[in-house]
Amino acid sequence: MDYLRELEGKRVHDPLGEKMATSRCIWFPGPVIVGAGPSGLAAAACLKQRGIQSIILERADCIASLWQQKTYDRLRLHLPKQFCELPLMPFPDNFPTYPTKQQFLAYLKAYADRFDINPVFNQTVVSAELDQRRALWKVKTRGLKNEEADYVSHWLIVATGENAENVVPQIEGMDEFAGPIVHTSAYKSGDMFSEKSVLVVGCGNSGMEVCLDLCNYNARPSLVVRDSVHVLPQEMLGRSTFGLSMCLLKWLPMSLVDQFLLLMSRLMLGDTARLGLHRPKLGPLELKSKSGKTPVLDVGTFAKIKAGNIKVYKAVKRLKHHAVEFADGVVENFDAIILATGYKSNVPSWLKESDMFSEKDGLPRERFPNGWKGECGLYAVGFTKRGLLGTSTDARRIAEDIYRASSLES
Ligand SMILES: Cc1cc2nc3c(=O)[nH]c(=O)nc-3n(C[C@H](O)[C@H](O)[C@H](O)COP(=O)(O)OP(=O)(O)OC[C@H]3O[C@@H](n4cnc5c(N)ncnc54)[C@H](O)[C@@H]3O)c2cc1C
Repeated sequence: MDYLRELEGKRVHDPLGEKMATSRCIWFPGPVIVGAGPSGLAAAACLKQRGIQSIILERADCIASLWQQKTYDRLRLHLPKQFCELPLMPFPDNFPTYPTKQQFLAYLKAYADRFDINPVFNQTVVSAELDQRRALWKVKTRGLKNEEADYVSHWLIVATGENAENVVPQIEGMDEFAGPIVHTSAYKSGDMFSEKSVLVVGCGNSGMEVCLDLCNYNARPSLVVRDSVHVLPQEMLGRSTFGLSMCLLKWLPMSLVDQFLLLMSRLMLGDTARLGLHRPKLGPLELKSKSGKTPVLDVGTFAKIKAGNIKVYKAVKRLKHHAVEFADGVVENFDAIILATGYKSNVPSWLKESDMFSEKDGLPRERFPNGWKGECGLYAVGFTKRGLLGTSTDARRIAEDIYRASSLES
């Protein structure tokens, strides 16, 4: 890329002493963005619109690697498209309300093309540190052949996402279990589980949807529901539950909207607790705003639970050779286990800074809407626990802030 100015090229000795690794130091005049998911793309586009060239460093070999490589085939956006579009470019009119994964990916590809965003792929950021004296960020990357580079810039935009690494719980007897144990990030469809008895651990949106998918492939899924969970119908009164909630929140306090959502859910789904899905004490919106825990938007799984096609179990105690023992002492045979146990941020593993980001969960310490800006040119996009809607807000703010700061400088 001709806009990269190479300041210094030097060779360093490989710590293993086996081969020499090349380390380059590259000064970049605009912001360095880490991560080419929807958040990184949105930040780059908003900056571009203000005439600021940025560079995206991405560990995978493609944009939106979470969506391309780590999601199941039947995935559609959980929220209606108007709440998921990136800044400056709406979804095409002919897209359905809930675009499929392939449609969303086509949209992201068109987005990158439209704003001429060309990330540098296969570049894992292994550290980023502020040079206090020069007020410059030094971002170290490692490529496929272990080659290293240091990108140096006034601005660092963290866009590595809330879902950068799989969360895999340690369950007693895991190495004893004879069947496959896979995380949802590796699950594509129920095809290979046909006629099999499968235990899905975790009852968020992914766990619930994987159960439905397994039913559709003639597998026999069971679901582990350890904690309380709010299950809401995806649509109410002919509108999306999310859209309706947003609308009601303009006029009513959150507690009242929560009461309305719970009443409608009761009328439409019945008493979920009777089937082992106990509701938290806080209402769905209040819980989301206080803890970030997302309610499940039911796309048909609950009917399968009601019909007895999906069994519900409490916490897993331990795994055996072909069976699972649950906390209440029940033991059942299973052929495979799918861990729908979620994801976590990886920021603390590479960002040498702990004022803006918490070392505990890798998320900004300040909550939405204040978590997007740190000190000395450090920014975060996509860590709001508000999905793509939060991404858009962050990306616009960051671009405006950097634009203002660079206008003042010049
Ligand atoms: C199954 C599923 C369904 C979802 N459905 C919706 C929905 O309907 N609506 C919604 O708003 N949200 C949804 N989400 C949330 C979703 O994660 C976000 O909307 C969106 O993907 C976030 O984009 P992002 O760019 O912040 O993070 P990501 O998409 O995770 O992108 C981050 C990128 O950073 C890269 N990266 C990570 N670490 C490094 C590193 N050290 N160096 C270089 N690159 C790195 C990753 O490879 C990745 O490409 C869903 C999530 C999942 C898992």
